[in-house]
Amino acid sequence: MASDDPSHRTDGLRYRRVLLKLSGEALLGDQAFGIDHAVLRQYAADVKEAVDEGAQVALVIGGGNIFRGVSNEGAKMSSRAHADYMGMLATMINGMALQDALEAAGMHTRLISAIDMNEIAEPFIRRRAIRHLEKGRVVVFGAGTGHPYFSTDTAAALRAAEMDAEVILKGTRVDGVYTGDPETDPSAKRYEAIYGAEVIQRDLKVMDLTAVTLAKESGLPLIVFNMNAPGTFARVLRGEPVGTTVHWDEAAEPLVLA
Ligand code: UDP
Repeated sequence: MASDDPSHRTDGLRYRRVLLKLSGEALLGDQAFGIDHAVLRQYAADVKEAVDEGAQVALVIGGGNIFRGVSNEGAKMSSRAHADYMGMLATMINGMALQDALEAAGMHTRLISAIDMNEIAEPFIRRRAIRHLEKGRVVVFGAGTGHPYFSTDTAAALRAAEMDAEVILKGTRVDGVYTGDPETDPSAKRYEAIYGAEVIQRDLKVMDLTAVTLAKESGLPLIVFNMNAPGTFARVLRGEPVGTTVHWDEAAEPLVLA
């Protein structure tokens, strides 16, 4: 286990070592393309709050604001694999921007790429990455899994398992998982907790199936929460009832509304 039993901790954190997945799209802010630096600054401040409380934070960043292999420009290309490699390079651009924002906020960081690019990022060496976390450095994982036909959600589940993280945190623009689309259906309610098998059966689009399956096999819970609401990230780490928790506890209620 990465950390001691939470009930014996004195730092007030429910989760100490976490894997935070941020989509590339979230970095758009109100823009149609590229990176909104105000969004990056807010994310960096939120990560700092958690690190200052003793959390070990690893991040996986997406690339959807720049390029996606399966949709957008990628869909017009003749080779899916070729387009996917372009998508992975897009995540590295975001990773560099995120690293810059985290350091500007006063944290020590390491950018780790799943594709060798030694001039700008470390290669992925599992034990070295864990050591960075133990030393309080924020680790940013770029280039996804390093393989086409996967997503950065799957990279998040993979790295979370490899880092012995306690939870995968999916930072989105919404408060969690709802019974319907809260933007079009005013009666839609947020789930506080969902049994993972329900997510798969109901096709709730929390993460893609490969990612959810990997989380299941590793017994990793997932919390979907609003990363754009300042301070929410640290609240999730303290165990406050925000967002939606996807768990693998067969004995618990399968669906709990907030
Ligand atoms: N990608 C890939 N393998 C991976 C991770 C990502 O091929 O392990 C490619 C894929 O084309 C994907 C793009 O990188 O569409 C950007 O990642 P993603 O769409 O997951 O980013 P997000 O939706 O989180 O912004």
